Amino acid sequence: MLQEQEAHAAEMERTFIAIKPDGVQRGLISEIISRFERKGFKLVAIKIVVPSKEFAQKHYHDLKDRPFFNGLCEFLSSAPVVAMVWEGEGVIKYGRKLIGATDPQKSEPGTIRGDLAVVVGRNIIHGSDGPETAKDEINLWFKPEELVSYTSNAEKWIYGVN
Ligand code: GDP
Ligand code: MG
Repeated sequence: MLQEQEAHAAEMERTFIAIKPDGVQRGLISEIISRFERKGFKLVAIKIVVPSKEFAQKHYHDLKDRPFFNGLCEFLSSAPVVAMVWEGEGVIKYGRKLIGATDPQKSEPGTIRGDLAVVVGRNIIHGSDGPETAKDEINLWFKPEELVSYTSNAEKWIYGVN
């Protein structure tokens, strides 16, 4: 049992998920949150903010040489964004699966972008693409004290360990 608990603890991850301005304006906050929540992932931080353009440029710094970079940063800073941190086993990779491919035309039905978006420039949601970016993005968007560590009653039913 102890081994299972240790394995479970070792697999626990956190990822940064944001509902972009189009998702917020289209009334999709609860739809998106419910997909992560029903899966069994745990919400450990959430806030609604309008990022500055400089902040958006920091968030998307790895795309600074792409032709759509300026428009993307203008868009992200144009209206409220819901910033979140979700926790769970494998949440970084599986969160990306729930989100679907970058281009909604290529996202599978059943994914968030596949079901709810049509074009790449308005794909409603962001999710960290790996452990390093998850750490960097969580640190960029949240102060340590904004992250809440807690055990939910459902965890023993989701993971089979306490
Ligand atoms: P993601 O990790 O799936 O969000 O995709 P990327 O990190 O590659 O790109 C970040 C965001 O830039 C995407 O979610 C899109 O909103 C936007 N983007 C990516 N590629 C394109 C493109 O070819 N055209 C436009 N207009 N936007 C793009
Ligand atoms: Mg990305």
